[in-house]
Amino acid sequence: MLDNTTIKILSKVYTHSNEETYDMKKQISTYKAPKELKEKEKLAFENSGFIINTIKHYTHDDTLVRLRKIVDDNPHLEALTYNLLIKAVATGFHRGLQPIISYLFAKHTPEHTFVPLGDDEYNCNTCKICGLPKASWENDGKNLYDLYIGYCRIGGYMEALLDLEEVISFELIHVSNEEIAIFKHLIDFIDNAPEKETPTELLMRISKEKILPKSNTISRTWLLRILAELGVMKNKLDPNYDTLRHFVSYEQKYQWELRLHDEAPNHRSEVNFPLSAWRGNLGINHALVESIIATAKKGY
Ligand SMILES: [Zn+2]
Repeated sequence: MLDNTTIKILSKVYTHSNEETYDMKKQISTYKAPKELKEKEKLAFENSGFIINTIKHYTHDDTLVRLRKIVDDNPHLEALTYNLLIKAVATGFHRGLQPIISYLFAKHTPEHTFVPLGDDEYNCNTCKICGLPKASWENDGKNLYDLYIGYCRIGGYMEALLDLEEVISFELIHVSNEEIAIFKHLIDFIDNAPEKETPTELLMRISKEKILPKSNTISRTWLLRILAELGVMKNKLDPNYDTLRHFVSYEQKYQWELRLHDEAPNHRSEVNFPLSAWRGNLGINHALVESIIATAKKGY
């Protein structure tokens, strides 16, 4: 697990102005070593052993096989990722946000080989079953840093593997009753939203009321996207949406997202399924909330 000093140093590394090269063919950026560090920071960074540019090639078929193996080999992963989510909400530990999404993707995605979504330039490289690209190059260093600042990936990303490969090395994490209470408070806060409230308005209210300790705009945005993706925040397109227990194909999600886009004013607003299909009156799926808390409490 990266410590706060390393994360702070990396925030100076992974900026647009610190890009070293952009490889058009591989579609990845590399970054320069951190400059102007204090002696203490330099030492801490060296000791962390973190490699800034870790360029790796991933393929759809191999990534799915490895994700399946991680789930099969690590029965404690479910409780661990559920605890991490509650911890992230209650304490601002942003690294805890992504793992439940990666875990459920790994657990529910059926075994298959790559099937293209369509035949145009973009869609021919996206799998219609799971959303993973056929193959891609990744900078694992940059991707891991993103996960530590709460910038998540939902909907078919190779980073699920990087995420879970690191998470299985974490010590066991147990949430306290106080942390569960903060999680429940957030759920109640969403459940009591004004009927016509939009996700953007909800985000503003959460920020203004300061109900999430040590959160920031990035982590709050991704947290709501995660709650909607799990089905905790309901959406108008599928009242029974529930990825905690069911697999939903990428093709289905893609069609719903296109529909939201068509319905959006001017067709220009940025839409994000399922969060954009939430409104205050739809509220919360309480059965899923109870299930998350019960699994986290049950432990390992
Ligand atoms: Zn696939």
